[in-house]
Amino acid sequence: MTSRKRRPVLDKGPHGIVSTYNRGCGCGECTAANTEYNARRRERNRQKLVWDDTLNREVYKATDITHGTASAYRIYGCRCALCEKRRIADNEANRVKKWT
Ligand SMILES: [Zn+2]
Ligand SMILES: [Zn+2]
Repeated sequence: MTSRKRRPVLDKGPHGIVSTYNRGCGCGECTAANTEYNARRRERNRQKLVWDDTLNREVYKATDITHGTASAYRIYGCRCALCEKRRIADNEANRVKKWT
C-alpha cells in the first residue's frame, strides 16, 4: 500500500467544483464535488450496460470504450468475453503478486 499524499488546498477558488479539484485542490468542498461527479459518471455508464442472455452477464453496449482493457471492466463494468478475460487475468496477476 502506498501512503496517500494529502492534496493541498488552493488559494484560488472557486471551491466546490470539479475543475478546481482537478487543478489540485484538496479542500472538503472540492473533494465532495469530485466524488459526486464520479458517482454520476458511474451512474451514466451503468445505463449503457445491457444484460446479455447468451453470456448471462452485463455487457457495455456502447462503442465508446475499448473492450479487454482494465478501464472497460473497472470503470464501465463491462463483463463481455474480452473484458471478463482481462479481469480474470488481472486478478490472477494480483494474486501472484501478493503471494510472492
Ligand atoms: Zn477547493
Ligand atoms: Zn467488454
